Amino acid sequence: MRRDEIAAGLAEVEQRIGEACRAAGRDRGEVTLIAVTKTRPAEDVRILCELGVRDVGENRDQEAAPKARELAGLPLTWHFVGQLQSNKVRSVVGYADVIHSVDRLRLAAAVSKEAGRQGREIGCLVQVSLDDDPGRGGAMPGDVLDLADQIAAYDNVWLGGVMAVAPLGEEPAKAFARLQDVALAVQERHPRATMISAGMSEDLAEAVAYGATHLRVGTALLGRRKPFVR
Ligand SMILES: *Cc1c(COP(=O)(O)O)cnc(C)c1O
Repeated sequence: MRRDEIAAGLAEVEQRIGEACRAAGRDRGEVTLIAVTKTRPAEDVRILCELGVRDVGENRDQEAAPKARELAGLPLTWHFVGQLQSNKVRSVVGYADVIHSVDRLRLAAAVSKEAGRQGREIGCLVQVSLDDDPGRGGAMPGDVLDLADQIAAYDNVWLGGVMAVAPLGEEPAKAFARLQDVALAVQERHPRATMISAGMSEDLAEAVAYGATHLRVGTALLGRRKPFVR
């Protein structure tokens, strides 16, 4: 049964997070598991919720919007973790509680304005590029503080902290160490912006070792996704 599969995946991920926390000398309570449910049906999300998961992540508005609508009554925090185009801001602000992929001023401004229009308060993380590939999203590390300052100054959004995806072809630990440096610089100016969203199925232990507070885990919880078809 699907519920048993998901429960087994969750137990395994919980064990890995627990071990990573012990190895890093951190308290399990410092780390939030975000179940990344992209490509999965709403029913999987419902099962995760029944199993106690309270944070879910999606990366495409076309898919996330109807899912969030269908599951609106559940006690879930919705995290938008994918690259966000300006023309999707109106829709995403309608259901997302936290947007992890704010990587440019214009996007931050659009989220703030739309959140005000809808009477919502949206958490924003600055996505940090840990390689030099602008195509994968993320602000250059040198631009992060300015962007963080701007978000902190806007109405109807709160600055949560930073997010990154480990680059391909580099040890994730090294990349997450750089992210932690950036995160601490942000926190020096914005002490409440303590979130570090890092670590996925393959590299969650390395992320925990370098201070991640939010892990975004899909495959290890829910199984391999089918190849993405547009
Ligand atoms: C899909 C996705 C994840 C989850 O990746 P898994 O390897 O399946 O755990 C995490 N973060 C982002 C931004 C994603 O798009």
